[in-house]
Amino acid sequence: MALVKMQDMLQHAYENQYAVGAFDVVSLELLQGVINAAEASRSPVIIGLSEPHLEYVDIELLAPAVEAAARRCTVPVAIHYDHGSGVEGAVRGIRHGCNGVMVDASHRSLQENIDCTKEVVKMAHACDIPVEAELGYVPDDGKDLVFTPVEEARGFVRLTGVDFLAVSIGTVHGRLDGKPRIDYQRLRNINEALQIPLVLHGSSGLSDDQFRKLIANGIAKVNYFTAITDRAAELMRGNARDADDGYLKLFAGVREGVEQEAMRLLRTWGSAGRAAEVMEQCNSWQGVEYTLKFDLTSVDNAKSPIFSSHDHKMLSKIPGVNEVTVGEVSNDNESKSYCWQFRLASSSVVESLKQHQDYIKFVQNYQGDETIEKSVVSFQ
Ligand SMILES: [Zn+2]
Repeated sequence: MALVKMQDMLQHAYENQYAVGAFDVVSLELLQGVINAAEASRSPVIIGLSEPHLEYVDIELLAPAVEAAARRCTVPVAIHYDHGSGVEGAVRGIRHGCNGVMVDASHRSLQENIDCTKEVVKMAHACDIPVEAELGYVPDDGKDLVFTPVEEARGFVRLTGVDFLAVSIGTVHGRLDGKPRIDYQRLRNINEALQIPLVLHGSSGLSDDQFRKLIANGIAKVNYFTAITDRAAELMRGNARDADDGYLKLFAGVREGVEQEAMRLLRTWGSAGRAAEVMEQCNSWQGVEYTLKFDLTSVDNAKSPIFSSHDHKMLSKIPGVNEVTVGEVSNDNESKSYCWQFRLASSSVVESLKQHQDYIKFVQNYQGDETIEKSVVSFQ
């Protein structure tokens, strides 16, 4: 089990002046390539599920693969929900196993960005999950770039309580058109003012020297997507030209190509070889199973929990609840027992769940002469 708390992982990187790579994945080739690279380099790594990519890939199918890969590998991994648009997306990311979320309202007004980020922080922190936000604007082309203002950043972090900040200092998302003009002085000032892990978006195409200088000035997480997927696409185009051997052959060498490129980057960013110390110094990320057992003395089918899909839907939507299952327990006596089992993102969610109005409503509905037993079990 190698899932670790993202706030611990990035704090370690920040204090030791290296950066953790955050790779958004949209397929098993990318996922396996990145995980293999982290294993081979003994490096911590972040796997990202990006909200804009969910148009192309089903999170319900991809997220379990990401979680399984993270759990079986031997280097520290965190799972991040990238470029979320608000609370709804962040809740969905957490439900699918993410233990860090980004809310990106950087294209909106400052006040809207503050309000939206605050709302996500409140929800995520109740689940013990850190939040990354963006201030300034890292555009998809060079045109609308807005640099992060230093003083504004100080106020933004104080007002929102955000854990990491994505900064706009001259990089752009996507492919690089010409040379980026990076404002290192601005980054230095932001870092001095904030003293929290900073995040770099739009990293494709930067040189090793540029990365080193950025990391020396507070960048502790590097988001990386375009260049590595361009490499994968180039390999697939080559396969398509060279062979007429069907679908599977299109993927030949893609995983290995991604792996090699990711290994080079993990070395450049200074995270290679750090797995053991991160594992030792960071808390592991554990889910919790919370069980509620009702003994109903007089069973009224209309009221019995097993028949209520409405309750099931309502409870499944509570932030930090990953899964809800319900079943009947066979008893020797006349009474019937029902078990509601909640798979929760973290032990903190037990408390936030109990305070949630929908949960309170649900429990009150089944309270009366019934007895309720509760238990909490952590799992890895
Ligand atoms: Zn980005």
